[in-house]
Formats: sequence, C-alpha cells, structure tokens
Amino acid sequence: MIPRLTHILVVDGSDVARAIVARVVEEELPNTRITHCGSGQEAVTCMQSEHFDLITTALMLPDMDGLDFSRQVRTDPIHHYTPVIVVSGDADERLLREGFAAGVTDYFDKSLGYQAFASFIRDFTRRHTGLVGRILYVEDSPTAAAQTIRLMERHGLQVLHTPSAEQALDMLLEASLGDVASPGNVDIVVTDFYLKGRLTGGDLLHAIRAKLRLSQQEMPVLVITSADADDGRQTEVFHAGANDFVCKPIVEEVLLARIRSLLLIKQQFNALKSQTEEMRMLATTDSLTGVRNKRFLLDHGEQFLADRRNQPVSVMLLDIDHFKNINDNYGHITGDRILEALGRLLRDSLREDTLIVRFGGEEFAVLLPRCALREAQSRAEALRLQVEALHPLEHPITVSVGLASTGTYPDFNLTQLLTQADRALYAAKAHGRNQVCA
Ligand code: GH3
Ligand code: MG
Ligand code: MG
Ligand code: MG
Repeated sequence: MIPRLTHILVVDGSDVARAIVARVVEEELPNTRITHCGSGQEAVTCMQSEHFDLITTALMLPDMDGLDFSRQVRTDPIHHYTPVIVVSGDADERLLREGFAAGVTDYFDKSLGYQAFASFIRDFTRRHTGLVGRILYVEDSPTAAAQTIRLMERHGLQVLHTPSAEQALDMLLEASLGDVASPGNVDIVVTDFYLKGRLTGGDLLHAIRAKLRLSQQEMPVLVITSADADDGRQTEVFHAGANDFVCKPIVEEVLLARIRSLLLIKQQFNALKSQTEEMRMLATTDSLTGVRNKRFLLDHGEQFLADRRNQPVSVMLLDIDHFKNINDNYGHITGDRILEALGRLLRDSLREDTLIVRFGGEEFAVLLPRCALREAQSRAEALRLQVEALHPLEHPITVSVGLASTGTYPDFNLTQLLTQADRALYAAKAHGRNQVCA
C-alpha cells in the first residue's frame, strides 16, 4: 500500500519556529505536506479551502489563545475530528485543566527540541491516521448501510457489504476453505444485531466463534445494537464472543475508534502468526540446502503418509557418489556449494506436493505423493540425468537412488519404507553407482 500524503497545518506566530518545523518535517517525514500560518485567523481561513490530517498550534498565537483556536477547529465540520496538537514551551497546568474540554488531542513539549518533534509526529500519525483494513459489514437496511459504508470508506477502509448473516457466513466459510491464513482477507466483521433473515447478528457471531472456530483475535467482531438495547442484550452479545459493540444511531468518532482498536488486535494477531510461522520454517529447514531437515521428517513424516493412505506414495533416497573425494580434493567449502546446488535442483525440479528432506550429510529423502513405483522409477531416472548434467561449480557429480513405494508395501510405515529404500540405495551403490534401484 502506498502511504497517503499527510497534510499538516502548523500554526505559530514565530517565523523562525515555523521555518524550523517546516524544515524538520520536510527532512524527516517524506509523504508529508506542510502548510504554515502565522495567526489563528489566517489558519481558520486556510481550513475553509483545504483539508488537513493534523493541526499543530502554539499555545499563544498573536491574535488568539491556542486553546480557543482548538475550540474553533472542533466547530469546523470538515476538521471536527482532526487531531490538534499543542506545541508549547512548558508543561502548562492550564493545558491539563482545559485541554480536554477544548478538544486538544495531544501536547508536544517544545523544550525537547525539533528533532524530537519529527519522531513525535511520526509516531502520532502512525497511531492516528491511515485506517487500513477490510471490513465485512452486515446490515439489512439499505439506507443505514449506504450511510455507514460511505463513512467507513471516507476513512480509507475497504468495505465488503452483505445484507444477511447467511451470506456473510458463506463468504467467511468459502474464504476460510481457500486460504486458511486469512478468511476472505476480511480483517474484522461489523454486524447489525437485528437482521431480517433467519439468522440475527447474534447468530452470525455465534457461528463465527463456535462453528468457524475463529477467535476474538483472529476475527474481531463489532456488533451494532439498537439504542434501546438493555444491559441484558449487551451481556448476551459479549457472551457470544463479540469484541465490542456500538449503539445506533452511529456516532462517527465512536465507530471509528472501535474499528481502529479491533484492527489493531487483528494486525497484532497477524504479526504474531507470521512470526510463529517464520520461526517454525527456520526450525524445520536445512539452512544449507533450503529443503526440510531430518527433524521435520521425524515429526511429520508418518502423518504425511497417514494423510495419503488412499494413494500410492513413493520414497526416494538419493546419495551423492564419492562425495568424500570432492571434499578431499577441493575442500569443504566447495562441497557445501555443491550440496547447495543439489538442494536447489531438487526444489526446482520436483512437484510442489513433494516433501524433500536432507536426510544425512550428502543424502536426501524425497516423499512423492500420488506416485506409484513405476512412475517413481521414471522420475528418479529423470532426476539422475539432471544431476549428471548439473556440473555444479564445473564439477561433475552423480547420484545413486534407492526406491520404495506404498504401492508395493501398502502396510509399511515410514521407517519400514525408508529401510527398504536404503536397501535399494545400497544395491545401486554396489552395482556401480550413478543408477536407480527399486
Ligand atoms: P558413496 O558413493 O559410497 O556415497 O561415497 P561417499 O564418499 O559419498 O560417502 P561417504 O559416506 O564415505 O562420505 C560422505 C561424505 O560427505 C563425508 C562427509 O565429509 C561429506 N559431508 C557430509 N556432510 C557434509 C556437509 O555438510 N558439507 C560437506 N562439504 N561435506 C559433507
Ligand atoms: Mg437491521
Ligand atoms: Mg555418498
Ligand atoms: Mg552417504
């Protein structure tokens, strides 16, 4: 996503202060445009013709008080929700006392220096702007829907609207079958409680948690309740696993604040999940060859077979011939580069559903699903020829391959198949190497 240009209005009576702020922002915050005004009145005029994402003001302006200026910003329909930051030299007690009522969003202590101002603004905009996310919005009333969709889209959200819980559920279900990582690329669900179909928003919520098994972190749900919803209804909504609710009529700021915090939950969930996946990948991948390590085969190999009991699976054990000679003659580093090249060849030339494992030093185990012995033989032979033609680092290498298949031994477990393949490999070595044996 390309970050949108943030437009900041800086209001300060001092030419020098404005010049410094402008320079710091320009240097430190790309994607930011700045407009500066020397007085409150000038700023108010400016706000009538332009939209700002953020407004900073000095506490004392030549023609008005900074807090009064903030109050004026709050009465401007276009900038009603725009954050206002007061930049002041000292932590004024008046700011604490009156700032909230005057609509001030935050303060920056000028004595920290303008360099700190840049990082303050950077953090602030990260927290306050750029709602990024995809909302599945369930609302049966076309008028209410049109209004709320417009509201959400105005703030940069992507909205997927459906009028019924049934349809919403179908969409989530279909999507979760296709891509487990993120159901339908929907980040959060916003649903009306009352829906005209057979299922209510409450039923949808219940199904998301109890049927689709999506947790509050994985699929945050915001429920929109009617104004007369009593405490009992609210309790019900939470029991069913809602993250939060908002009451009708919808207040823009309130809805956005709730959506923002749910999107944050979702983003943190995603970050944690991809971190975990990355760690798991690292822990189960051989760093030299890029194929799975032996530990992965020991942990998941039996399951890999069990999941494919109704189809033949062939096991290939592949060992480089006289590899010791390469190490002895050209050094261990060269040996490593050759192993790396062979790993790449295996990854590039075998089907996606194949499980490739570095089984020992210069020995690889390959599990070929949907592959009976005869096909495994021709694929192993093709692979043998590819290795022969590879010439990694200009060194010719060859491999010997041993095969075994559940097509021949339907009741064998992985260990038994590997033993069988190992015997075949031994035979291939004994018969002169650079060949396939089954
Ligand atoms: P054969 O045809 O009988 O398989 O002969 P070979 O020399 O390949 O077999 P042997 O088992 O005697 O030697 C395997 C060699 O592989 C010995 C070891 O130094 C080398 N080796 C194992 N792991 C690595 C590695 O990670 N890097 C390098 N460079 N060499 C390795
Ligand atoms: Mg409704
Ligand atoms: Mg060898
Ligand atoms: Mg070996």
